[in-house]
Amino acid sequence: MVQKAKKIWFDGKLVNWDDAQVHVLSHTLHYGVGVFEGIRCYKTEDGQSAVFRLKEHVDRLFDSAHIVLIEIPFTREEIRAAIHKTLVANEQSEGYIRPIVFLGEGEMGLHVRNNPVRVAIATWPWGAYLGEDGMKKGIRAKVSSFNRHHPNAAMSKGKVIGNYVNSVLAKWEVVKAGYDEAVLLDPEGYVAEGSGENIFIVRNGILQTTPLTSVLPGITRDSVITIAQKFDIPVKEARFTRDEMYIADEIFFTGTAAEITPVREVDDRKVGAGKPGPMTKRIQAAFFDIILGKNALFQHWLDLVK
Ligand code: PMP
Repeated sequence: MVQKAKKIWFDGKLVNWDDAQVHVLSHTLHYGVGVFEGIRCYKTEDGQSAVFRLKEHVDRLFDSAHIVLIEIPFTREEIRAAIHKTLVANEQSEGYIRPIVFLGEGEMGLHVRNNPVRVAIATWPWGAYLGEDGMKKGIRAKVSSFNRHHPNAAMSKGKVIGNYVNSVLAKWEVVKAGYDEAVLLDPEGYVAEGSGENIFIVRNGILQTTPLTSVLPGITRDSVITIAQKFDIPVKEARFTRDEMYIADEIFFTGTAAEITPVREVDDRKVGAGKPGPMTKRIQAAFFDIILGKNALFQHWLDLVK
């Protein structure tokens, strides 16, 4: 259960959590055309509260909306300020932030022009998405029988609500089979991403992730690439196959919710030594130092909540 906070920002003002309701004929509820974000806020070591890479998340929200022809009736700065305001109202110094943009009631059918574009921002406490244990020891992943979207079937550069039916089906399938997370292949059979994460493999000291062809441009993915470059760790963005995962030394998922989660097993094959490897641990440690405000080089990724 999501832990209730006090307020939700809805169409420009803060309302009580229980009053943030929508009509059943809200267009997005029927057709899935809407966009959202997943953002995290952390308490830094000096006791402040900081939203991680807020600018990039707000930019992606606007990009996602643009892709599906939705015009957000607020400016980027207004959305950024609204996120701060919601965190302050909820007295929440760390946790998850969920902005959502959707079409309200009005016309029905596929070609609607005048339905109101509605915007809400909720925040709630959320620990390690794939479990504390998974974060430390690594999780068990399985390739799903569901492929990721063809790039000309769904718009994967956008965090579009309807796209997530595919993720939910993949996740359900593998969790039912006893695994923690799904790996989805692209329509050509190459590894694409997790149900809600990008994926990295490590082999012979080289960090590799899938190119952005059919995956969401993850902000955590970008953070890992940037961190690796600062450490002079070679990184390549190139497609890989499922059996390249089987012979990888290390694998990890990246995402706002999942942060940096090691994979200790994929399709019942042990990854490396069957526990988080040195590169994963190094990247994880650097990432957690940054979000805690311990690395001055990356201070610009932290948007302090005032
Ligand atoms: N891929 C998918 C399908 C996702 O839902 C997410 C989570 N937003 C990601 C990748 C990772 O993106 P980010 O690091 O920006 O959270």
